Amino acid sequence: MTASQQTASQTWLIRNVRPAGGPATDLILSEGRITETGSGLTAPGAQVLDGTGLIALPGLVDLHTHLREPGREDAETVLTGTQAAALGGYTAVHAMANTEPVADTAGVVEQIWRLGRQAGYCDVQPVGAVTVGLEGSRLAELGAMADSAARVRIFSDDGRCVSDAVLMRRALEYVKAFGGVIAQHAQEPRLTEGAQLNEGEMSGLLGLAGWPAVAEEAIIARDCLLTAHVGSALHVCHVSTAGSVEIIRWAKSKGWRVTAEVTPHHLLLTDELAASYDPVYKVNPPLRTAADVAALRAGLADGTIDCVATDHAPHAVEDKETEWHVAAFGMTGLETALRVVHAAMVETGLLDWAQVADRMSVRPAAIGQLDGTAIGAAGQSLSAALHGRPLTAGSPANLVLYDPAARSVVDPAQHASRSRNTPFAGMDLPGQVIATFLRGEPVVLDGKLAR
Ligand SMILES: [Zn+2]
Ligand SMILES: [Zn+2]
Repeated sequence: MTASQQTASQTWLIRNVRPAGGPATDLILSEGRITETGSGLTAPGAQVLDGTGLIALPGLVDLHTHLREPGREDAETVLTGTQAAALGGYTAVHAMANTEPVADTAGVVEQIWRLGRQAGYCDVQPVGAVTVGLEGSRLAELGAMADSAARVRIFSDDGRCVSDAVLMRRALEYVKAFGGVIAQHAQEPRLTEGAQLNEGEMSGLLGLAGWPAVAEEAIIARDCLLTAHVGSALHVCHVSTAGSVEIIRWAKSKGWRVTAEVTPHHLLLTDELAASYDPVYKVNPPLRTAADVAALRAGLADGTIDCVATDHAPHAVEDKETEWHVAAFGMTGLETALRVVHAAMVETGLLDWAQVADRMSVRPAAIGQLDGTAIGAAGQSLSAALHGRPLTAGSPANLVLYDPAARSVVDPAQHASRSRNTPFAGMDLPGQVIATFLRGEPVVLDGKLAR
């Protein structure tokens, strides 16, 4: 299905909404685009939505989502994962490659891409594996995945680190030819054998095997140097330590093409939560210290860390609600990400709403090449399938309406995700997603799925 076939015919008039938290205005959405902005607009026959008190942001873009299909449909499917994404205000998600089978061929990435189009709640952009079967021994068909209908631009073995320096160099060299990006899960494997929790006071107190910050930082430093050497592009997944922020700040100061993401959970939670031995707090990379959280927030605020990415990692109950040592690593995050960023970054005065739009839509769309700036050779027009565009006339009508004055306790039973492993359950968080529009069509209205 093409973007134009999905374009809604219904015209919407959104009254009195504040784009990126700025002055209130009306928006008219028609034929998949924002056709007009201004005050006192009229649109005969249009559906009217009163946006008084609401903020409008460009539809959020996630660079890091685990949709689990194919292979672990008991934990999540493309349908339930994209429903969760829409409820969280996302209009595009990048689906990580560690499915069963692994997304390491053109066939598998095209299958995932098509499932996303069929679900219709949110665009699904597959991430391709760097190595065959995520086994870290030989490069996957990067070029074939890039040339496929899924037009893969980000490659990652996420869940595993491309630890072999020669292989990492070859991957960076290979994707340079077509402007691709290698997204690294930075985890030195030998330094993290059996690791369970951030190495520090808490891991010692709880008797859990430590996961040292240096295991992340050593790989990031190496990869920044490799990227500079090759002249290619590196994206660092889920930065979790203060030292990592420093290394990335240094690499950027050199002008190297390094970008980075931080998860909502690493912006709000610390390793002290593990004192309960509740595996809902078990995640890779692990929750770190309050000093790391402060450095991550400062890095996101000053732009060293480009964007927020959820690392939404749904797990079936039997894999997660078990003993800490055997429980799976990972947390869900799509439905709470914007609210957590609101609490960690906006309520603390570190970001305003225009900057939230930048860190959760504009920059991730640019890194994933969903914003249209890299289109041309592929022959794609400036279509309504683009994301991360400003909320001005002519832009695709991909947007979220958010009530910043709302507040409620997170109830995972109300989530669309098939899994329930959210560390924010029971937490009182600000804000509520009221509506999400994908190409002018409401996929979420009144905070609920619209169809
Ligand atoms: Zn990862
Ligand atoms: Zn991940």
